[in-house]
Amino acid sequence: MSEHPHVEIYTKENCPYCEKAKDLFDSKGVDYETYNVTGDEELFDEMVERADGRQTAPEVFIDDELIGGWDDTQALAESGELDEKLGIADEETGDNGTEAGPEHRRMIIAGSGIAGLTAAIYAARSNNDPLVLEGDEPGGQLTLTTDVENYPGFPEGISGPDLINQMKEQAERFGAAVRNGVIADVDDSSRPYRVELSNGDVYTADAFIAASGASARTLGIPGEDELMGYGVSTCATCDGAFFRDEEMIVVGGGDAAFEEADFLTKFADTVYLVHRREEFRAEDYWVDRLQEKVDAGDVEIIKNTEVTEIHGSVEEGVDDAELVRHPEGYPSDKLDDPETETFEMDVGAVFLAIGHTPNTDYLEDTAVEMDDAGYIKTEGGTGGGQTKTGVPGIFGAGDVVDFHYQQAVTAAGMGCKAALDADDYLETTELEAQAGATGAAASDD
Ligand code: NDP
Repeated sequence: MSEHPHVEIYTKENCPYCEKAKDLFDSKGVDYETYNVTGDEELFDEMVERADGRQTAPEVFIDDELIGGWDDTQALAESGELDEKLGIADEETGDNGTEAGPEHRRMIIAGSGIAGLTAAIYAARSNNDPLVLEGDEPGGQLTLTTDVENYPGFPEGISGPDLINQMKEQAERFGAAVRNGVIADVDDSSRPYRVELSNGDVYTADAFIAASGASARTLGIPGEDELMGYGVSTCATCDGAFFRDEEMIVVGGGDAAFEEADFLTKFADTVYLVHRREEFRAEDYWVDRLQEKVDAGDVEIIKNTEVTEIHGSVEEGVDDAELVRHPEGYPSDKLDDPETETFEMDVGAVFLAIGHTPNTDYLEDTAVEMDDAGYIKTEGGTGGGQTKTGVPGIFGAGDVVDFHYQQAVTAAGMGCKAALDADDYLETTELEAQAGATGAAASDD
């Protein structure tokens, strides 16, 4: 029997954040009970009541105390408080080093999405002893995707979480270590680089691959923060099923918005895809596929329109949303224009699918160059060294670099390139150090 406190996790089917919560407790060696609320109204009502009205899964409890969803659990894990609550603080938080100093790794990889895990597979096979630090969103964006149908080698498609889990297994089989942890700061002022986590743990690394991806953007409108988790969501696959038979808004005009709108037709009474201008950024494939749902009366597309406020309460969820429309698009920039019209829609949920912001805050104090949006600048071009940043030994791969392609397969390709570039760097610096040592010894003779 476990000597740890009693951990309970309410989960649902197809819930990537539920898997992340379970993985987190697994990684800490802590037993937990799970209750799957999918299709069980009584259990769902019990979860909502115990979770103070929150209608999203997972909901985590430790000894009957509400911890909250994945974000809350992750935040506690980062601050070290989770370990305290679990009675394992002495076992694994705080100083991860020894008297000789912080734990040293030949290579640290920031991020466990497809770029980071591919880098880990290659780095482990090159005996570079990689440590993957999972970051805020273990598994990255793919864990929030349902079916990945364009990743080569899976003619029937594969679910995003399955693809990530298989890659993680593959990396670990070759000796990569994958640990939970969010990097707060990298210090590139001396070698090896110092890598500090938000829980205070410190590592040093000879080479560093930034593959920390990008996080979901939000609109910054009234009601959004307050109702996040209570009807406002950035993950349709996680939360869609909780709003069965409701009217739902999806905001955005890219592939993600189309994919989410398509997915939500399984549950929604009607899905309204709200886009701020006339043209879509989404591929023709998605536009055509959603048009079939429009023709069937399951989806309505509302162009040149933006959501400006979301109304509701923590107890009752989302009531309605306020929107603005202008015939030439971008209506919230034209609020004083007489052609701008304001209207309200009664909806039970609002899903945001408006792109992502690169996770590069932890590199701010380094000399790694970034563009105005925070994407890392790498050498690019042809030939070796494409993933080099301006700082020798620090490389960039995946969505944290690539604002254009942002595909699973391109992220994997960049992860591979970064591991090969880092391997070259490590070998070259070691050869130079050896040559330097030999030269010094010869001149001493
Ligand atoms: P995108 O950047 O492609 O699209 C974001 C959308 O959100 C755009 O239509 C943009 O409008 C809109 N938007 C951005 N900010 C705001 C705002 N403040 N208010 C209102 N609307 C806003 O991001 P995605 O997440 O859709 O896709 C990212 C990448 O991932 C792409 O390369 C895509 O191909 C890929 N992807 C592929 C999928 C698949 O094929 N299965 C599924 C999901 C993503 P505007 O167009 O006016 O800029």
